[in-house]
Amino acid sequence: MRKIAIVGTGYVGLVTGVCLAEIGHQVTCIDNNVDKIATLLDGKSPIYEPGLEKLIHRNMAEKRLEFTTNHREAFFKVEVIYLAVGTPQNRDGSANLDCIFQAAREISEHVSGEIVVVVKSTVPVGTNDKIKQSIEENALSPLKVDVVSNPEFLREGHAIYDTFHGDRIVIGSSSKRAAAIIAEINEPFNIPIIHTDVRSAEMIKYASNAFLATKISFINEISTICEKVGANIEDVAYGMGQDSRIGSQFLKAGIGYGGSCFPKDTKALVQIAGNVKHTFDLLESVIRINNHQQLKLVEKALLRFGSLKGMRVAILGLAFKPNTDDVREAASIVLVERLLEEGGRITVYDPVAMDNARKILMNEVNYADSLREALYQADMALIVTEWDEIKEFPLEEFEKLMATPIIFDGRNCYRLEDIEQYAIEYHSIGRAMIK
Ligand code: NAD
Repeated sequence: MRKIAIVGTGYVGLVTGVCLAEIGHQVTCIDNNVDKIATLLDGKSPIYEPGLEKLIHRNMAEKRLEFTTNHREAFFKVEVIYLAVGTPQNRDGSANLDCIFQAAREISEHVSGEIVVVVKSTVPVGTNDKIKQSIEENALSPLKVDVVSNPEFLREGHAIYDTFHGDRIVIGSSSKRAAAIIAEINEPFNIPIIHTDVRSAEMIKYASNAFLATKISFINEISTICEKVGANIEDVAYGMGQDSRIGSQFLKAGIGYGGSCFPKDTKALVQIAGNVKHTFDLLESVIRINNHQQLKLVEKALLRFGSLKGMRVAILGLAFKPNTDDVREAASIVLVERLLEEGGRITVYDPVAMDNARKILMNEVNYADSLREALYQADMALIVTEWDEIKEFPLEEFEKLMATPIIFDGRNCYRLEDIEQYAIEYHSIGRAMIK
């Protein structure tokens, strides 16, 4: 058992803290967002993540998990501090490291002696070294810091499962002692550990996300060609995916990737390459393709109707993917903004992401309490997130509720054979249009 502090109680920090407590460590999670900590102290999760709240309750009750806004208190007598603060993008696409270096200053102020700092946040190559330097230089009392780059690979919506069943844990450090401590902390997860130097660990994270984003943009390009040559992207992707050299994951055509990681991490890697005078042509194309793909449904609707002025549009799904309430860089936001420019009258619905969407879309759109309410009298429905609730929604309801049952499905939620049983006009990605 180790005494651990986690700085940043967002998707990564909270899940990491809760799971480390679950395997027996003594964990204090710190966040400078007072509301978040108050919610947690109340035993509630500030984010939607299946299974998380149950683990919060259990570990709080068993006194292995604490929450605070006070760094001094959280760092008292800890051996290891994890940094899991946000690293959003700057305007130029580079990673914003303000929160990271703020957290580093807090360590300098409140810790003395020896400490292992584990960087979970996604940070550009070379940042871990700067974090060590910053903490040591600003330390108020003598302090020896060992940094460990331990990038996070969890998927929102499956975060608990992924923490317990991940494919690998990457530990990058120049300190054998620190690397051994972090390996020992993670041992109960029983996941293969890869030891590297710090910079390789930092790069593994960016390269992994960039590769997955590339797979998505690749299949989306193939889907556009499929539409034009009369092939079916679902069959094509299946046929490709059965080749074990390719693999079937991340070959789902749709309206592009979103979320808090792929968009910012791909842009940051282009910047990282640029800083060493390398133009990452391939990744720049991946990003450009994705930006275009996110607007695909509006493009299709404009082609179908000529103008969208005054048309009632139901947006089904707002989260960037199912099982999360995260709408950061979601296709839904880009789509809604574009539809508003085209003069559409929009009603949105999502099972869990409504509150987060409201903070961005404000009163520009109507908010429905159910799928039925969103679809009522709509001229068209745009499916943006493949929630089970949407996939399982009876097709006859589209017929009954909508003024004109026309669906633009950005996630290929339905089989064409099923749609053919109904009087629905159906446009999807990389497949024939059904009328
Ligand atoms: P988040 O925005 O959900 O959470 C970050 C938290 O850090 C916020 O609650 C914020 O209040 C807090 N914070 C910022 N500065 C602080 C400070 N000095 N002291 C205490 N708290 C502070 O972010 P996230 O989605 O959890 O991502 C965190 C990092 O992990 C990012 O670098 C991200 O790229 C990376 N990552 C995220 C995911 C994901 O799926 N969300 C997956 C892998 C990696």
